[in-house]
Amino acid sequence: MGGMTNKAILLVAGSDSSGGAGLEADQKVIAAHGCYAMTATTALTAQNTMGVDDIHQIPPEFTRKQIDAVFKDIPPSVIKTGMLGSAATIEMLSQALVDYKVEKLVLDPVMVATTGAQLLPAEAVNELRTVLLPLTFILTPNIPEAKLLLTNSGKVVADVRCIEDLDRLARQLRALGPQWVLVKGGHVPFKKDGTAATFPEERELVVNVLLGPDGNMIRVESPYADSKNTHGTGCSLAAAIAANLAKGVDTVDAVHAACRYIEAAIRTAPGYGKGHGPLNHFH
Ligand code: PLP
Repeated sequence: MGGMTNKAILLVAGSDSSGGAGLEADQKVIAAHGCYAMTATTALTAQNTMGVDDIHQIPPEFTRKQIDAVFKDIPPSVIKTGMLGSAATIEMLSQALVDYKVEKLVLDPVMVATTGAQLLPAEAVNELRTVLLPLTFILTPNIPEAKLLLTNSGKVVADVRCIEDLDRLARQLRALGPQWVLVKGGHVPFKKDGTAATFPEERELVVNVLLGPDGNMIRVESPYADSKNTHGTGCSLAAAIAANLAKGVDTVDAVHAACRYIEAAIRTAPGYGKGHGPLNHFH
C-alpha cells in the first residue's frame, strides 16, 4: 500500500524553454522528491541561460480551464505558483483558490529574472499583494521581491544591512496575510559577524529567515556559494518546499530540507549554458 498521502502538486507558473527555471525546474524538483507534478501554464518564455528573449502570456481563461481540468480529476494537496505574468492571471488564480478552498498555497512571487527580465508588470504587484497574500500558506520572496511587495503598502522599506533587517521584512510581509513567510537572503550575503558583506571576499553566509504563525523567527543559514549556476534557484526552492509539504513534512522541516537540497543542487550544477546555468535537480 502506498499510504494515503496525496503527493499530487499543481504548478501554476510560466515555462522556461531552457529547462532551468519555471515549470520545467519545478517538475524536475517534484519528481526528485518522489511527488507528482501537474501544470496550469500562465506564460511561455523564449529564454536560455543568458536571458529572456520573449514572453507569450497565456489568456487567463485558458489557464483556468487547466486548473479546472486538474481539480475535476486529481485534486492536488498543494498548489505552487511561480511566474503569473499579469494582473488578470492573478485575479483568475485568486478566484480559483477560493472556489477550490485551497489551503496549501506555496507562493513564490516571481517578479524579475536574474538576468533583469521583468516577469511581472509593476502594476500587477499591488494585485498580488492584496488578493493573493491573504490566501497564501507560505510566501517565499527574495530580498528585492520582499521590498517590491512592501512598496506602496504603507510600510517603510529600508536596505538590508544585518540579519534583523531580514526579520523586519518577514514581519512586515506576514502582516499582509500569509501564514508563513520565508525571506531568502541570497541577494545580500553576510560576513561571519552577521552584517552585510561590502567586498566580494567577505561573503561567507546566506541567511534565510522563516516566520510562522507562532511569531518565532527561525534562521536557516547556508554557506555562501560563489557560483554563476543559480538559474532557477528560487523556483526550485519553492518547489522543494511544496514537495516536502505534500509528503506531510511540517513547515519548519520542509524549509530546512529544501534549503539543504538547493545547496547541493548548486554545488553539483552541471555547468550548462553560456550564462547563469541550471542547478542539478537529481543529486
Ligand atoms: N523564467 C520563468 C518562467 C520563471 O518562473 C523564473 C523564476 O523565477 C525565471 C525565469 C527566473 O529565473 P532566475 O531568476 O532564477 O534566472
